[in-house]
Amino acid sequence: MFEALGDKLGNVFDGLTGRGALSESDVNKAMREIRIALLEADVALPVVKQFVEKVRKEAVGEKVIKSIKPGQMVVKIVNDALIDMLGGTLSDDDADKAEAAKANALNLAGRPPVAILMAGLQGSGKTTTTGKLGLYLRTALKKKVLFASLDTNRPAAMDQLGMLAEQAGTGFLPIVKGETALQIAKRAMSEGAKGGYDVVFLDTAGRTTVNDELMDEVEAIAKATNPIETLLVADSLTGQDAVETANRFNARLPLTGLVLTRIDGDGRGGAALSMRAVTGLPIKFLGTGEKLDGLEAFDAERLAGRILGQGDIVSLVEKASQVINEKDAALAAEKMRKGQFDLDDLAKQLGQMQKMGGMGGLMKLMPGMGKMKKQLDAAGGVDDKLLKQQQAIILSMTPHERQNPGVLKASRKKRIAAGSGMSVQEVNKLLKMHRQMSDMMKKMSKGGMAGMMQAMQG
Ligand code: GDP
Repeated sequence: MFEALGDKLGNVFDGLTGRGALSESDVNKAMREIRIALLEADVALPVVKQFVEKVRKEAVGEKVIKSIKPGQMVVKIVNDALIDMLGGTLSDDDADKAEAAKANALNLAGRPPVAILMAGLQGSGKTTTTGKLGLYLRTALKKKVLFASLDTNRPAAMDQLGMLAEQAGTGFLPIVKGETALQIAKRAMSEGAKGGYDVVFLDTAGRTTVNDELMDEVEAIAKATNPIETLLVADSLTGQDAVETANRFNARLPLTGLVLTRIDGDGRGGAALSMRAVTGLPIKFLGTGEKLDGLEAFDAERLAGRILGQGDIVSLVEKASQVINEKDAALAAEKMRKGQFDLDDLAKQLGQMQKMGGMGGLMKLMPGMGKMKKQLDAAGGVDDKLLKQQQAIILSMTPHERQNPGVLKASRKKRIAAGSGMSVQEVNKLLKMHRQMSDMMKKMSKGGMAGMMQAMQG
């Protein structure tokens, strides 16, 4: 469903040429597609509404970068809005990035042992996540970790945590039959202190549905142990239900963050967006598999990419907007219309291509590039080393030669070849490529790097 979003937006904007700004009616059409896509991905309706409004405001009047299709431009705006709503930052400021990362990371600052309370429905992945986090804290952060199972109803759940403790290399609080969950939690904290542990995980009992008895129990445990983190573990595949669950837990417990499991499954992360938006809680980790290494620190950019399935387009727009100087592009277009695309212009274009990761990189990003690549290959190839060599050849020419390639006869070519450390044959290849490119460009109605890219994508 999400894979198709880019195509659908492409259709919406097909009538637009990539000039000027996004109009309100075009944006509205695009928003309908986005709305449907989000609803299909199980994002809660109020969240969809909020999101679409935000994107609409940002997109209307947005100037379309000439080299990019309007549909791609909107994908980028949607992507940025997603990152923002998932609790990430769009700022390039390192301090801002560090702050956002900190908000999404585990807080362990406190007198040891600090308690981490794990809450959630049965089957959400609570116990597995406890194992994963324990392994992560022990190995990556060198913490001494103790696991305690508070699931007095299910001896199997206790055994499961004991096995995970063994796998993760963490301590496990011995089971004492007949204790209540609250008694176990208190014992865990005192044993944790005695044993010199840094972190005690309290894995609470899950139930199949949220009920008062469960909530009373977990609430009492939270009060008694004062956890530094109270994490709600939720199955990302349960969509709308996960949001309802999050709300009910959030109403009773001082939750500090979310862990979304089964991100490796079929869901595309719609639940994550809803849960974050509805609860305002940071998503701290994602569960990406059944094994203990199936844990990812939450990264808003990565999840936005996963939800949208449009990572390539997003990075293309980013690169293009960084590199392309609109004025230069317009100037080059004007010259080309007059048949004046000279070697200075070619050098500029080659420089831009290089900044964008070479033609190889660009071609990977753009659909429908195969034919163009063959043409360019025939004219001398397009790899990055070649881009540099071609620029060197042009730099060895005098300004007069660059503006008037027609004057380049044998003796001048020899001088240029010597100056750039290339052969005359290679100088000829470059000149041939320039002729072919300027012919091709003359045929295009829109010019410059911008027009070329549009023609290539078309
Ligand atoms: P609990 O009842 O909340 O403690 O849930 P469990 O930890 O026992 O997990 C229930 C099932 O989900 C187990 O079979 C786990 O292996 C599986 N599971 C947990 N997290 C993930 C995950 O991130 N991805 C996948 N694919 N399976 C998971």
